[in-house]
Amino acid sequence: MDLDACDAVVVVGATVLADSGRLAIVPAAARPPARLAFYLGRVGGREVAGIVPAGDLALVPPAAMVPLRGAFADLNDEAARADRELATAAVAMATWHERAAHCPLCGTATEPREGGWSRRCPADGVDHYPRTDPAVIVAITDADDRMLLAHVSYHSPLRYSHLAGYVEPGESLEQAARREVFEESGITLDEVEYAGSQPWPFPASIMIGYRARAASTDIAVDGLEVTDAAWLTRPELARLVAAGEMILAPPGSIARYLIHSWYGGTVPDADGVPSA
Ligand SMILES: [Zn+2]
Repeated sequence: MDLDACDAVVVVGATVLADSGRLAIVPAAARPPARLAFYLGRVGGREVAGIVPAGDLALVPPAAMVPLRGAFADLNDEAARADRELATAAVAMATWHERAAHCPLCGTATEPREGGWSRRCPADGVDHYPRTDPAVIVAITDADDRMLLAHVSYHSPLRYSHLAGYVEPGESLEQAARREVFEESGITLDEVEYAGSQPWPFPASIMIGYRARAASTDIAVDGLEVTDAAWLTRPELARLVAAGEMILAPPGSIARYLIHSWYGGTVPDADGVPSA
């Protein structure tokens, strides 16, 4: 695969080049100089690579770098979904290359191979591959069908979402779901049921979503990672969001999907506009 001959998705950090609301695929002849390139695949008859530009980009609006979080989020729009999938792969791969620049065994600088889908250590000949770290996210309801939403300390003050966390070595996904929820809220779970998954390359996760019924409802947050949690009815959630007192996860996220699938549709945002 001649990566230089590919059209390109342009990645900088967790942002991608977009144009007029769509993911931009820059023709090979118009690509900016790149310091990293990796093959993404054949898209609509075009060979497409992801590239990280070597320098600053001179962008003419409406072309712009947009954060992958929340971009191309209309799940009912097939074109947006395709854009999001390609952009997610591009950000995930670029992030992995940045983090795999040195061999974890001996520290030698690694070199990309196989169209950028592996990196080899020239000192010991070991190949390293992109990795994905599993994390679970759990939408919990109680016997009255109230939803547990929590605030975690590293999010903005009004952002509430489901409890989530990384899977630890030796755990099943279901065990991780139960442990995270208990550690962060003190709540124990009855049934835990798979609800869907989403790649989440911030920096290298896949979020595995569950729905669960709480066996206990008394909340005991740790006050450090999780600072607040509450059981909410649908009208209570709608009122808080409409009043601008609660911000939900971005459109297009599995967290938002889990809320909407419980709520029974979109929760109108602070401007009264049903959001995607
Ligand atoms: Zn090595």
